[in-house]
Amino acid sequence: MEYSILAEVFQKMESTTKRLELTQFLVELFEKTPHEVVSKIVYLIQGKLRPDFEGIELGVAEKLAMKAISKSSGIAIKKIQEAYTKDGDMGHAAAVILEQKTQTTFLMESITVERVYETLFKIAKLEGSGSQDMKIKYISSLLNDASPLEASFILKILLGTLRLGIAENTVMDALAITYSGDKQNRKLLQNAYNVSSDLGKVAETIAVEGIEGIKKFKISLFNPIRPMLADRVKSEKEVIEKMGNEFAIEYKLDGERVQIHIAGERIELFSRSLEKISDYYPDITEKMPKIIQADDAILEAEIVAINENTGDFLPFQELMHRRRKYKIEKAVTEYPITVNFFDVLYCNGKDCTELNYNERRRKLESIVKQNEFAKFIPMTIAKNENDIEEFFENSINAGSEGLMLKMLDKPYQAGSRGSHWLKLKREYRNELGDSLDLVVVGGFFGKGRRTGSYGTLLLSTYDENTDTFPSICKVGTGFTDDSLDQLYQILNPKTTIKKNPRINSEMEADVWFEPELVIEVVASEITLSPIHKVAKDEIRKGTGLALRFPKFTGKIRLEKTAEDASTDEEVISLYKGQNKAVRDKNLIQ
Ligand code: AMP
Repeated sequence: MEYSILAEVFQKMESTTKRLELTQFLVELFEKTPHEVVSKIVYLIQGKLRPDFEGIELGVAEKLAMKAISKSSGIAIKKIQEAYTKDGDMGHAAAVILEQKTQTTFLMESITVERVYETLFKIAKLEGSGSQDMKIKYISSLLNDASPLEASFILKILLGTLRLGIAENTVMDALAITYSGDKQNRKLLQNAYNVSSDLGKVAETIAVEGIEGIKKFKISLFNPIRPMLADRVKSEKEVIEKMGNEFAIEYKLDGERVQIHIAGERIELFSRSLEKISDYYPDITEKMPKIIQADDAILEAEIVAINENTGDFLPFQELMHRRRKYKIEKAVTEYPITVNFFDVLYCNGKDCTELNYNERRRKLESIVKQNEFAKFIPMTIAKNENDIEEFFENSINAGSEGLMLKMLDKPYQAGSRGSHWLKLKREYRNELGDSLDLVVVGGFFGKGRRTGSYGTLLLSTYDENTDTFPSICKVGTGFTDDSLDQLYQILNPKTTIKKNPRINSEMEADVWFEPELVIEVVASEITLSPIHKVAKDEIRKGTGLALRFPKFTGKIRLEKTAEDASTDEEVISLYKGQNKAVRDKNLIQ
């Protein structure tokens, strides 16, 4: 397939932020795409080469890209640097430079999507000495045959700056329309995506086998399953209203969620955001084969840091010491952990997600051999508010955050947040002073001590209905010098030239970020706001909701994706609950 087709669609997509138009462009693109290339196209439009969990990073630096452009065009690096400084966009700068070159070049071989993809793949795999030179060689050989437009998008993918603003949902809409003629089939694609986390594989299946193939789509080992999530509730009473008269309650431990995939000798660990984390926990990968008594399995557990002397649970933050590339053995002894199992999704060649909670828990208990390192999350069956209250107290005393409440007769719903699982956290019982997990979408440069960092951040919730990130507040308090530094290191590479179309805000931030990082914030209350966009028009026409006196708690939630952030619905329910609390207080006074 000619790469020019893709580059032209990229160009059109960059010029719009309207979801319907973006979907239409994608449909036109898929219609021109041969089946064997469709998965590659799906990865490339997301600026990737493979699904995220495979951890394949292109990691090309600007300097290296400039050297390659120089090699291909014969134009001095200094000139390229000037064009880049003027433009701020390497892709565009390359196009300008190569425009000068093509006037003198006669013969150009047209380039295909397959060639671009394979070359990028080779670049991603290169490491060690001599790899820089090889990368320059590969890139410049592509640029030699590329038109200026094609070159600009090759560079954007290489540098990770391709920002088309398309969410996975939009890609799935377009796949459903193209290959089944019915946008409603998006739901079936979503199911397939939820159990594979691989949009390329889903795309290829529907292209080759049609919607029937998608209906038969199965869980596969070592393809992480998107986790089931819980709705939050604020009181025992609300639990009873939503759960009925018999349900399971488990401790909600404050750790890192892990999905363990095991088959014979091979074992792989995935985080909640589906990143491969096996390297951070060599103790888990080493010990699991003896603990898990099955030929193959996919299990879920919470990894919790512990105090080795007392066995007490320690807060989530302690686990961050494990997130390092080097000297991991030292971290393993200094920061000991336990693995606390709570679910089984696959076992001995069979999908277990269709089983209900009771059946899954029984299966889990039959295949995991408990010891000091591996345990089951404490669980009991509750029937009334008293049962919850008692278990809640026990769980808090044991150092957990609260409770997870799970319906007994329900299957495991991959990738969905619903009322089959609820969470009751300690702080949710306190009406105001609640914490929210918010997405960092923009930054404002600091002054004084904060020069060289983002002194204030613009934050958003996640709106599930529109798949966007409406702004809720600016936060400038609660930061230490260390946390400002750490946030700068994480956020700087996420800077974009153009605001991602999924960000809904009228603020003029100094810089915009890809909506990816989630941080925890507390606030004194939720107020109506003419500026912020959360729950716009829901409470009052023309008005949204905002946080008053927001403060960063110090928790950077690296384990969460932007779509795991607090939702508009949660904010509305907190707003309503807070107003009720204020009303009740006024009545009492
Ligand atoms: P939250 O991060 O507040 O949305 O809560 C969901 C997270 O709680 C999950 O992603 C798990 O990491 C964690 N968790 C702790 N205990 C449990 C449990 N018993 N069942 C499910 N998730 C749990």
